[in-house]
Amino acid sequence: MAEKKKKTIKTIKINVDKCNGCRACELICSAFHAAPKYSSNNPARSRIRVIREPLSDIYVPVYAGEYAVAECAGRDKYTIDGKEYDECAFCRASCPSRGEFKEPDSGLPLKCDMCEGEEEPLCVKWCTVDALTCEEREEEVEEDVKMEDIEIGMASMVDRYGLQKVMDTVARMSKKA
Ligand code: SF4
Ligand code: SF4
Repeated sequence: MAEKKKKTIKTIKINVDKCNGCRACELICSAFHAAPKYSSNNPARSRIRVIREPLSDIYVPVYAGEYAVAECAGRDKYTIDGKEYDECAFCRASCPSRGEFKEPDSGLPLKCDMCEGEEEPLCVKWCTVDALTCEEREEEVEEDVKMEDIEIGMASMVDRYGLQKVMDTVARMSKKA
């Protein structure tokens, strides 16, 4: 069973042309996710990685997305404004064929959590040249009603009206549906 709920959706916009490859976003992300928080910073633990090719003036901030069990068979090459980007440059997957988005000690996949608990994603806050900006919008989404919620509701109805009455009502409603 699903009910409509309003949800705030955050989108991070990446302007590749503005990124200068400073890697401040990687530092703050890894520090925020260190245990304890801010006790260390190591870009290898960051959920955002900046693909850097300074000689070609290529800097691509990429967010860690879903875990991929196997590497993909086909790859894409992009040429934008005369710059040729690496086959995996825009890919967000933590995948077996590359080192990005894996926790260095355990090898477990990393995924961006939008800095859960923070008002604004920290990588956005720390990007002083606005290569990263955050937009928020409200969306109506269908959310599954938890079975425990239904059970609690039913139990209180049974307490109040008795089991037989509740069952008769449900039977009547199902005939109408
Ligand atoms: S902080 Fe901004 S400019 Fe610096 S590497 Fe990250 S995205 Fe690029
Ligand atoms: S939004 Fe937060 S968790 Fe995601 S990459 Fe940026 S700093 Fe890391």
